[in-house]
Amino acid sequence: MKQHLTFWMRHLNKLRWLSLVTVFSMLIIIPVLGLYQTYVAAHAYDLLTPGEKRLYDTVEFFTGPVLNDPENDLDAIKGTTWSGTFFGLKLSDPLAVLGQTAAGFEVYWPFILTGLIPILLTVILGRFFCGWICPATFLYELNTNLGAWIHKAGIPIGQRHFDRRIKYLVLIVGLVLSALTGSVLVAAIYPPAIIGREIYYAIALGGFGAGAVFFVLTLLFDLLVSRRGFCRYLCPGGALYSLLGRYRLLRIKREVTQCNDCAKCNAICEFELDPMKDGFGQECNNCTACIAICPTDALLFNIDYKDVPYQGPGHLGHKYRENQLESLNKEVQQIYEA
Ligand code: SF4
Ligand code: SF4
Repeated sequence: MKQHLTFWMRHLNKLRWLSLVTVFSMLIIIPVLGLYQTYVAAHAYDLLTPGEKRLYDTVEFFTGPVLNDPENDLDAIKGTTWSGTFFGLKLSDPLAVLGQTAAGFEVYWPFILTGLIPILLTVILGRFFCGWICPATFLYELNTNLGAWIHKAGIPIGQRHFDRRIKYLVLIVGLVLSALTGSVLVAAIYPPAIIGREIYYAIALGGFGAGAVFFVLTLLFDLLVSRRGFCRYLCPGGALYSLLGRYRLLRIKREVTQCNDCAKCNAICEFELDPMKDGFGQECNNCTACIAICPTDALLFNIDYKDVPYQGPGHLGHKYRENQLESLNKEVQQIYEA
């Protein structure tokens, strides 16, 4: 049974990539479907440009066999990860709920309730949105791979470290400014919201807004200053999800008897956490990259509301054997002396 579980856990990282690709693709597909709906509603196929006709025909080719009433049926999935509708269920990012509440200076329950399911899931699964759903994560992880290739080519990349608590300050300042200006300012510096918006602008309006420039700057920051630096140190949503997931029930635990202290888990962790020393904390997004890379299957999911304290060196590593040998020598010496 445990072997089966271990096998599945090792492959969760692939499932996570599938999830990231799906969400990112949906952010492209939804505005395309929205355009098609508009064309259908206008009943003006003959007035469309050749490019618009190509889009119309392509969407019709794929949706025609399954949809009777595209004008209404395509409303089933709308919006972005910031706020949207999924088969009648309205869902919003918890940061959207908090930002809107601060900006409007009022408690509007119908909107607050749309954040309830994501909040509950975060309380149970931790910062999973960052690892499994966020469309920016998809691009940031590709950017990390690019950084690794650049580094291999002998070009230095950013390796600076900052205080992780900066992002909590960004969250607080962002909410205060939202309240003072009446505008949801946190959305202007929140990568998943920016990506959803910018993809929509590109498809519906044929261009990008200022958010695209900001996002490119975050990519450069990650490459030139600090690996995955924006998410680690500056993202207001990352701050909120970390706080909500502090006492998450699903968390990774190191099986110390299986660990050989190879440190591969620490090296792969985008958030510079310390799985090798049982240091996951509230920042862990349960991405499972460390589980996938561990050569001895020493990392497994566990149900608990807090991490175990440091359990000492892995039992399959040199340090543990040296410690064992040292205490054995001491015992033998004590026996001789007695
Ligand atoms: S500790 Fe593991 S699961 Fe948590 S963020 Fe790092 S690599 Fe992902
Ligand atoms: S054996 Fe696994 S848990 Fe231990 S240090 Fe290596 S990767 Fe990390």
